[in-house]
Amino acid sequence: MKPNNKIVIAVDGHSSCGKSTMAKALAQRTGYIYIDSGAMYRAVTLFCIENGLVDEQQHIDEAGLKARMNEICIEFRNNPETGGNETWLNGRNVEQQIRNMEVSNLVSPVSALKFVRTAMTAQQQSMGRQKGIVMDGRDIGTTVFPDAELKIFVTASAETRAKRRWDELKLKGQETPYEAVLENVRNRDYIDQNRAESPLRKADDAILLDNSALTPEEQNDWLYQQFLKALSK
Ligand code: C5P
Repeated sequence: MKPNNKIVIAVDGHSSCGKSTMAKALAQRTGYIYIDSGAMYRAVTLFCIENGLVDEQQHIDEAGLKARMNEICIEFRNNPETGGNETWLNGRNVEQQIRNMEVSNLVSPVSALKFVRTAMTAQQQSMGRQKGIVMDGRDIGTTVFPDAELKIFVTASAETRAKRRWDELKLKGQETPYEAVLENVRNRDYIDQNRAESPLRKADDAILLDNSALTPEEQNDWLYQQFLKALSK
């Protein structure tokens, strides 16, 4: 048994592979806090877009962003209507905006910047100090919480992931061609896996899950079983 009976759970993996769905469900079932680390990188990206730090060729003004990092305040606030946490940027709810394609197309280059990662990693580590947390992302098991008691690495084929993302966008009324979504998924995979700082990779001690053929219920149950095992270690 763990001292306060709480552990840290890191759920990493490729873009749009259902990490957040399973991480959220586990947090709800266990009463743990869920943190979407990707939302933090998305909020920084939105800040760049809204503050003229991206030009028409999609180049990021790195020096400009670095100088303004201390103006970026990201919080997760509970929405009593849905019961879930939502992302706030400088006092404004940006939960919907950070999911649009403009942000999705820029977030990987923004999150490859070393000073951005250093700032986000520090905030994420302070959120996990008390344990009892489920965090999803790309480098949670490798960099943010290398000592996490349970590490999961999720993947599925790019086509499966693009189809799920496309369905999700469609439900929100955002009509985007499937090919554009697939291209975005592939590009993000490439940048995330090949960047110099904390590239996306499976931690040696992470459990691999390919969920291409699993329903959300099946993957949630699988994760809960892994949680029980980790807790009893
Ligand atoms: O999880 P989500 O797809 O919303 O994350 C958006 C992007 O943020 C990823 O494609 C990746 O570039 C970046 N990210 C990251 N490290 C994390 C979480 C997300 O670099 N821990």
